[in-house]
Amino acid sequence: MQLKEQLFQTTQARFGCAPDQCDDRQLYEALLLLTRNMAQNRPAPAGERKLYYFSAEFLMGKLLSNNLLALGLHDEVKDLLADLGRDLGVIESMEPEPSLGNGGLGRLAACFLDSIAALGLPGDGVGLNYHYGLFRQSFHQGRQVEEPDPWIEPDSWLIPTGMNFTVPFGGFELKAVLYDVAIPGANNEYANRLHLFDVVQPADKPWVGIDFDKGDIAHRLTSFLYPDDSDDAGRLLRVYQQYFMVSAGAQLILSELEKRGCALNTLADHVAIQINDTHPSMVIPELIRLLTERGMSFDEAFDQVRRTCAYTNHTILAEALEKWPLSFIEKVAPQIVPVILELDRRMKQAHPDPKAAIVDDQNRVHMAHMDIHCGYSVNGVAALHTEILKNSELKPFYDIYPEKFNNKTNGVTFRRWLEACDPELAGLIDSCVGPDWRTDADKLEGLLAFREDETVLDRLLAVKQDNKNQLCRVLWAEQGIELDPYSVFDIQVKRLHEYKRQQMNALYIIHKYLEIKAGRLPERPVTVFFGAKAAPAYVMAKHIIHLILCLQKLIDQDPQVRPWLRVAMVENYNVTWAERLIPACDISEQISLASKEASGTGNMKFMANGAVTLGTLDGANVEIAQLVGEENIYTFGRHSDEVIALYQGDEPDGRAYRPLDCYHRPAVERLVDFLVSPQLLAIGDPASLSQLWCDMKNKDWFMALLDVEDYIAVKEQAIHDYGDRRAWAQKMLVNIAKSGYFSSDRTIRQYNEDIWHLK
Ligand SMILES: *Cc1c(COP(=O)(O)O)cnc(C)c1O
Repeated sequence: MQLKEQLFQTTQARFGCAPDQCDDRQLYEALLLLTRNMAQNRPAPAGERKLYYFSAEFLMGKLLSNNLLALGLHDEVKDLLADLGRDLGVIESMEPEPSLGNGGLGRLAACFLDSIAALGLPGDGVGLNYHYGLFRQSFHQGRQVEEPDPWIEPDSWLIPTGMNFTVPFGGFELKAVLYDVAIPGANNEYANRLHLFDVVQPADKPWVGIDFDKGDIAHRLTSFLYPDDSDDAGRLLRVYQQYFMVSAGAQLILSELEKRGCALNTLADHVAIQINDTHPSMVIPELIRLLTERGMSFDEAFDQVRRTCAYTNHTILAEALEKWPLSFIEKVAPQIVPVILELDRRMKQAHPDPKAAIVDDQNRVHMAHMDIHCGYSVNGVAALHTEILKNSELKPFYDIYPEKFNNKTNGVTFRRWLEACDPELAGLIDSCVGPDWRTDADKLEGLLAFREDETVLDRLLAVKQDNKNQLCRVLWAEQGIELDPYSVFDIQVKRLHEYKRQQMNALYIIHKYLEIKAGRLPERPVTVFFGAKAAPAYVMAKHIIHLILCLQKLIDQDPQVRPWLRVAMVENYNVTWAERLIPACDISEQISLASKEASGTGNMKFMANGAVTLGTLDGANVEIAQLVGEENIYTFGRHSDEVIALYQGDEPDGRAYRPLDCYHRPAVERLVDFLVSPQLLAIGDPASLSQLWCDMKNKDWFMALLDVEDYIAVKEQAIHDYGDRRAWAQKMLVNIAKSGYFSSDRTIRQYNEDIWHLK
């Protein structure tokens, strides 16, 4: 049937009218139903072995546009709507963004699902159906306010499957109801699934903020992603969430295995489980429990599981390597405690090094240690990160199991992060190298042939300017922020964390502000964009947001500075905002303290959209620098080995780094002291600003003061170079041309070849 006719039938059946009589909302719902059904009706890819990608987060972003692209319907629908005098962009804006993730790790999982389907590999996601997501961020009086972010409407992408599994907790049990989101593969006829588990009776949204009864597990388990874990009730709830996800997921796997007619002792031949960070680690003891319950010996169950599970490490920040008190697991899932203890006993017997223990001498279970001992693969997410894992963070394990360690540099799907979010640039690329880069991103290298082509370089600059204009229009319409589209767009968008060093960028703004106030006008106007959510209980991160908002206000009120320097902190940074900000970026800020950012994926998206990176040699920035060459990237700051050495000093706080020494350099002191200047104190909260000031001088755990002078100098250089438009356009072109390596299609091919062996 013709698409036009299908749309007509859908709106008739649902709203009793033809498409031209529908409002935007009704058209959105009709298109949702239509695409959802088409995706749902596609068959799953076949294969001997099937992957289950377990992740606490899937930061999917809006799905209508991407699904239309994958189904090959995008242009047809767009034209159809245009014939009705309607705009697909407006219809798409009706869709709420599912807020099932936090940042990079969740977005990576979403990119992976896209690539797995596009490559026609059999692989489903397994996660939880959080009703209010992470939280919706707004700013009030210079502070972050958190509200629930409901995204599930009567019609959504969720497909009820009618399946459910019983999850036993200590003292009670809960039913896990399964919803699916269909993931259609681009350029093929297949679709995989994202499986999201939910409780039977999820509670309504809390009336005030994001506070709720964390003890009400039966109704609240799937309310929020990462409920506030600053107290025990919040921490326990996370363990309940994790066990609920993996127990239901493990039961789903065994039921699918059975449906395929495979014996339990062929599990490892037919199933691969990827454990995305440590949140799903309890799938290991849970699977062993379920297998032994079905009559398998412990030895055999352990062997099967050990050949099924693989673990991805995403961080070397100690605070993020989960360690749960055994007593928590005893309370949540007492039935897996004997399994964990037996695994611990066996591992201690074989490998007595206490640094490699699953259960430590304080009775805490180290989830990563369990994953490494009991899985067959451990991977880091960028070359540098994997080296650091092998040589320092996980060295005791690398010594035991060198063969398990491997690198899989992250990637992003170019279908969302170039084709869909930057259609004008996509069109320009098509006109140079043809359309195949969508499924073969290496084709982008063909752009290098246009390095001296004035027409292409001019068009590249024109596309960027259009995207900047477009961003200014939405920012004005949606957040009342009015900006100069001809200024340099310098953008730092990512979770707020001290290691990512938004505070160092703030010091740059202070530097620039003081220069302008002193009458030294810059060569050209600059707009510094931020977008970042802070974890609700992360006090220092909230101080940094406050500082940025204060600087924004200070400059907005200053007619002398405003024409030259602006700060724009975008509210509620999410995938939708990323898709608008990234295509408009000139300078991509990737300034984490070297060794601390495992990979980053934002850096890759910016690069693919023609932004030039300003960054430290951290995570995948190292690989970006190797690919584009030093004339097409701006790097600065201490290297990871120096930083690691500084952390290993024998000073009282365990570090050889002394921030006060840096602070006392005159160029630094006046920037830091500006935090408690009369100007800023008049705008902001003195307690908050002085705490940040104190911390920066005395602790500066992520060494912003160590790199700040170098940072400012290199940033000034980049802003200067921007003035040579032709040379800048060449940098843009080289960045786009070399970005193909960072396609998640490449990453997934490598996972499949080295770890999963799906077909
Ligand atoms: C890509 C992405 C991230 C990850 O950004 P990093 O700079 O790698 O931390 C976080 N949030 C959103 C919404 C993203 O799209």
